[in-house]
Amino acid sequence: MDGSFDAIVVGLGAMGSVTLYQLARRGIHALGIEMFEPGHDQGSSHGFHRMIRMSSSQDDGYAPLAERAFDLWREAEDRAGSLLLRSPHHHHRSLGRGAARRARAADAGGTARQRLLSADAARVVVGRARGARFLLDVPEGSFYGMPAVGDVGVKIGLSAGEATTARTIRRTIDDAEIASLHDVLDRYLPGASGPEQRRISCICTYTVDRDFVIDRHPDHGSVLFGCGFSGRGYKFAPVVGEILADLAIGGRPSHDIAFLRAERFAKVTGVE
Ligand SMILES: Cc1cc2nc3c(=O)[nH]c(=O)nc-3n(C[C@H](O)[C@H](O)[C@H](O)COP(=O)(O)OP(=O)(O)OC[C@H]3O[C@@H](n4cnc5c(N)ncnc54)[C@H](O)[C@@H]3O)c2cc1C
Repeated sequence: MDGSFDAIVVGLGAMGSVTLYQLARRGIHALGIEMFEPGHDQGSSHGFHRMIRMSSSQDDGYAPLAERAFDLWREAEDRAGSLLLRSPHHHHRSLGRGAARRARAADAGGTARQRLLSADAARVVVGRARGARFLLDVPEGSFYGMPAVGDVGVKIGLSAGEATTARTIRRTIDDAEIASLHDVLDRYLPGASGPEQRRISCICTYTVDRDFVIDRHPDHGSVLFGCGFSGRGYKFAPVVGEILADLAIGGRPSHDIAFLRAERFAKVTGVE
């Protein structure tokens, strides 16, 4: 490794990894820097599966990005020779119809092109998807989850709602919290609960408007940043990497990303 690079990617979660890959595809001599080991569980991109769908609750510029992301995920499948996108073959089937009704499962949109994405930065898990992602908005809190996929059991999570940082986040999940998740499953999704397989904490970085930020630093033009993926960025990782790589080599991104520029916050706050 020589000491000179045309591009440096700092942070190799989903977004940084794909950006590095896209730079390499463009023949750019690039370096990736990660503060933890590859595939670590200290950021946002670990875990076994993610949800991907075409529709968005916001009628905005994400649809073309999602379309492109689907194409790129399929390209990745071809290259890897592995199935990454799985269709749930019946909405809420594994969760019990009555339970889903009672629980106000809110993820009705996007069933036509909804997929389970079985991948993370470290490895790929291929399995049988039974049902769609579920969202529970109940008096006990707002929970999200995934059906069992292959040998990975049902996933249920609760947003702690605590503002934190990567250095100060509480990484422990105590037994009482696990018990309350079992209670929620038993109450609203009977049959979905089973023996605990693993407990993991994860960071979500939210912007105030829940839109991503992809932009160039206003004072340091050679610095680009992509962040604030607001709990829904994984599905877009291939297209975000493509956009960042295009910007890094001075090209125009193939998609309209004006709505993701950081200057929108200046308009809200009046601070440049
Ligand atoms: C529980 C959970 C469920 C989710 N479900 C979905 C879903 O169903 N569908 C979906 O599309 N999205 C989902 N998301 C969101 C998605 O996972 C994230 O938007 C995405 O993983 C963000 O990737 P990232 O690369 O920006 O962040 P990260 O994966 O956190 O990567 C950032 C990297 O930068 C490194 N880093 C930070 N600072 C430095 C430094 N100074 N030097 C070197 N390295 C540094 C970190 O160690 C980390 O590896 C979910 C997120 C969570 C947490």
